[in-house]
Amino acid sequence: MDTDSLHGRLALVTGGGRGIGAAIARHLASRGAKVIVTGRSQAELAEVAAAIDGVAVVADLADRAATDAMIATVRGLGRVDVLVNNAGIAESAPLADTDDAMWDRIMELNATAPFRLTRAFVPAMVAAGWGRVVTIASNAGLTGYGYTAAYCAAKHAAVGMTRALAVDLGRTGVTINAVCPGWVGTRMAEEAIARIAAKTGRDTAAATAALTGMSPQKRLIEPAEVAHAVAMLCSHDARGIHGQAIVLDGGQVLK
Ligand code: NAP
Repeated sequence: MDTDSLHGRLALVTGGGRGIGAAIARHLASRGAKVIVTGRSQAELAEVAAAIDGVAVVADLADRAATDAMIATVRGLGRVDVLVNNAGIAESAPLADTDDAMWDRIMELNATAPFRLTRAFVPAMVAAGWGRVVTIASNAGLTGYGYTAAYCAAKHAAVGMTRALAVDLGRTGVTINAVCPGWVGTRMAEEAIARIAAKTGRDTAAATAALTGMSPQKRLIEPAEVAHAVAMLCSHDARGIHGQAIVLDGGQVLK
């Protein structure tokens, strides 16, 4: 038995059109899963879906009605066996500038959407006796960083949801885990580097060094490394890994 195989499984990857989500979609497809990618950017989603013989479903997950419509569309495609809550946004601001709209935006996509999707898709996994939920949180879900109260709160919420639901799902054959990367080389990191450069006057190399310097490995994590961890959690032999927040940050956050 190939315990890594996802042949015959249907996976939903949110934010699957680029960055970490695209790497996860490609990796799960390489293990044999049929993969549905969702997000807002149709062209990016279509490109990933075409490359992996998957399906693209456009949806703004910050909009609950649009999310519900996406859930209905996906249910029409089959039973989701693997849910990867990956879509997320990061914004930073000091406390006084973290207004309600920014707080709500970050919480809605990074915490509420994963909760609502998990609530929507887990019951069918439980009925089938097998399922995998993996939420891409962050090491900001386990510790605090400057100027990121909303992002850290949302990622802590995602980790907290994971830990709590692991208790509820213990005897169902469904596992739920979070993956907590440090800085990963994607558009999100590029935007952070641009913000640092704009605010501090540093050049791009120095702004990049501000991020890589946080890690003992002095580098950004690659999206493929996160995808590898997600695929591992989806394997048969990972069935005992449950309710965990797996840190993937080159040793930055030592628990
Ligand atoms: P990214 O390249 O900016 O990708 C973010 C993804 O989320 C995109 O596919 C985007 O698609 C999707 N998304 C954003 N807003 C959305 C919305 N309203 N509705 C639906 N989808 C939406 O960033 P990434 O680095 O791959 O981030 C993926 C996840 O990893 C996020 O949860 C992030 O917090 C987490 N993470 C990233 C890092 C890092 O350093 N990059 C570190 C730790 C954790 P559309 O724009 O097309 O909607």
